[in-house]
Amino acid sequence: MALDLHADPVDITAELVDIQSVSGEEAVIADAVAAALTGQAGHLEVVRNGDTVLARTNLGRPSRVIFAGHLDTVPVNENLPLRRDGDILHGLGTVDMKGGDAVFLSLAATVPEPRHDVTFVFYDCEEVDAARNGLGRIERELPDWLQADLAVVGEPSNAVIEAGCQGTMRVELRTAGRRAHTARAWMGENAIHALGEPMRRLTAYAAREVEIDGLRYREGLQAVRVSGGVAGNVVPDEAVLTINFRFAPDRSGEQAEKHLREVFDGFELSVVDLSPGALPGLSAPAAAELVQAAGGQAAAKLGWTDVARFAALGMPAVNFGPGDPTLAHTREEFVHAAEIRRVAGVLREFLTGR
Ligand SMILES: [Zn+2]
Repeated sequence: MALDLHADPVDITAELVDIQSVSGEEAVIADAVAAALTGQAGHLEVVRNGDTVLARTNLGRPSRVIFAGHLDTVPVNENLPLRRDGDILHGLGTVDMKGGDAVFLSLAATVPEPRHDVTFVFYDCEEVDAARNGLGRIERELPDWLQADLAVVGEPSNAVIEAGCQGTMRVELRTAGRRAHTARAWMGENAIHALGEPMRRLTAYAAREVEIDGLRYREGLQAVRVSGGVAGNVVPDEAVLTINFRFAPDRSGEQAEKHLREVFDGFELSVVDLSPGALPGLSAPAAAELVQAAGGQAAAKLGWTDVARFAALGMPAVNFGPGDPTLAHTREEFVHAAEIRRVAGVLREFLTGR
């Protein structure tokens, strides 16, 4: 199947949706993307790495912008092939994130002389564990392809620029006790009862709200799992409370950990998972231009996306793509054509000044 990159991005979205590409099975879609870029965007340098396709201009512009989108989807759930209902596209990947990919492919072919040098990254295996993520592989194997002054990740954001992202940390709080028969409970020490105090601190915790670059971030601290207990007649000697902390990007991972150690002072804590956040960085020139092209509107990103990977590489990164992110990974995924056209229009203005 040949993709026509000069078509309406809405039609390109429809064609991409109908190329099934569950994580680990992106060869066919990567072939189609590579062939289309090579054949229809002759001004770009195109490279294939596994099932990731990279393309860039080399115009010697003073700044460079990366446009990144993953080609894979979560597993099929009776939501293929595409179903079109007037101006709405239904089906797997319409939201997450073939609409964003389609916009980038359209720009790749139709803006041969952008104001910034551009790098397009269409990558594999985003929807599976981080170790397989195609972007991580490019970072290791072709790092010069990921150098830029701004990264735009086309994940669904309701066609609104979302900047920065919150960090997330999971910790386990462990209490110890002493086993005894419950008939002689006074001889033991109950580790589950000992969770009472940390639970009380969680309930009383006032989550912070902070403003960074004009965007509001709301933190959250929640118990997400509790385990403990030996048998129906034994005083338990161990209990574990798992806590998830979503923290604003003005805290580093270390600062977030330090904060939790203060909140739960006196208890044993161990960090089991940490993904640092990313500052919005909207004051950087290329980012400010993009926000202006979008009508001056930007919002705080609450979840964690590959935006944070680019931020870790030292560039401001934003999320900007068609579709409602709360529909991602649902069977009922759908996207409005107008959102695809809006994202395409804003990015075209950003790249051409028109
Ligand atoms: Zn996605």
